[in-house]
Amino acid sequence: MFDVVVVGGGPAGSYTAYQLAKSGLTVLVLEDHKTIGKPRFCTGVIGKEAFNRFDLPKESIQKEIKEAKFYSPLGSILKISRDKTEAYVVDRTIFDQGIAHKAMDEGASYLLSTRCYDIDIRDDHVRVRIETRGGKFVFKAHVCVLAAGINYRFHEKLGIGKPVNFLDCAQTELPARDFFGMEIYLGTEIAPESFAWAVPVSSDSVRVGVSTTKNNSLYFLKKLLQKDFIRTRIDKIDKRDIQIKRKIIPYGIVNKSYGNRLIVVGDSAAQTKPTTGGGIFNGLICSSIATETIISAFEKGGFGHKNLKSYESLWKRQIGHDMRMGLYARKIFKQFADSHIESLLRLCNINEMHSIIKKFADFDKHSCFLVEFMKQPIFWKYLLFKAPGLKL
Ligand SMILES: Cc1cc2nc3c(=O)[nH]c(=O)nc-3n(C[C@H](O)[C@H](O)[C@H](O)COP(=O)(O)OP(=O)(O)OC[C@H]3O[C@@H](n4cnc5c(N)ncnc54)[C@H](O)[C@@H]3O)c2cc1C
Repeated sequence: MFDVVVVGGGPAGSYTAYQLAKSGLTVLVLEDHKTIGKPRFCTGVIGKEAFNRFDLPKESIQKEIKEAKFYSPLGSILKISRDKTEAYVVDRTIFDQGIAHKAMDEGASYLLSTRCYDIDIRDDHVRVRIETRGGKFVFKAHVCVLAAGINYRFHEKLGIGKPVNFLDCAQTELPARDFFGMEIYLGTEIAPESFAWAVPVSSDSVRVGVSTTKNNSLYFLKKLLQKDFIRTRIDKIDKRDIQIKRKIIPYGIVNKSYGNRLIVVGDSAAQTKPTTGGGIFNGLICSSIATETIISAFEKGGFGHKNLKSYESLWKRQIGHDMRMGLYARKIFKQFADSHIESLLRLCNINEMHSIIKKFADFDKHSCFLVEFMKQPIFWKYLLFKAPGLKL
């Protein structure tokens, strides 16, 4: 019998496994793919703070980001630049494998090509049923950590909250030049109710993607790749060599992320930023809280609701406010026409607003900046006059 079985070897699952194994618990990680970190589909932008706060694999860093430019569909540009590095672009395969290796070095066991198909919570243990190389087996543990990303097949049975909001994303990586910082493209014809991006990976390649609340990111990405501001900087390649991948990002605050002998982390609990959809930093924060909760449950000798409940209150206390503010910002932004986006970017370029952005904009915590922005009378004047009729 293991102390903990972790379902899913992504960053949230492996970081939880790493910390639990480090504390001396016996940990088994189940991952359905045959290689950790493959296939991976992510832009890989992670704030510098994540690397300061957590023990992350620095060898995965491909590029440092100091600048972000936001483009309105009607011509305005908002540039935010810093002297120091704000974020890193990482290779997700190396990143995920680096965390998994740290977990293995601490003694965690990994079973790859192993799909968990059932989680059965009993009074005195958890039974995790798996399928691997044609065989079916059962593992027993005191606690199960569900870190299966966007696989929500166990949630209903386990009485866990499922996310209700999703961003549909499509992304490709292409040989390119003259992309220096992050570029964010806004507009109802570019990325309905969300945004598109170009993120340099090196001096000669870029990740270009689109997220939208509609179910057609692929269509919008293909259109984006034809736009002059992208097309002219992409090296000529055969259309057939362009590999576009598609995936959803969950967002919103789920109702319940724990149960008897069960804790849910990462995308499985929709612990992403509603503004950008980034989920790695929040997943790491929550995996640390999950670890503390599980270690404390082992000390108390009980793994029921009562001892695991603090997980949910603690993570919601740490990132819940930011998530709520992000959801509110998204609710307003969803109603914006292109003319509103243009006025907003013009407003952001006014000196007093630009200095607020420079002072308070933080790669990971968006609520400070949003609150400061909302404190400005000029912001509300703008909303009332330039975008009347918005549901606030
Ligand atoms: C296009 C796109 C761009 C993104 N860009 C960024 C970004 O720049 N920055 C950022 O912070 N976030 C970004 N994200 C979000 C980020 O990728 C996720 O938040 C993050 O991967 C979540 O980590 P996780 O460990 O919770 O889940 P995952 O990384 O999805 O890992 C879950 C693992 O569990 C495995 N699994 C699932 N079911 C089972 C099962 N039954 N049995 C065994 N194994 C199972 C899966 O195969 C997978 O390996 C992006 C997402 C998308 C779609």
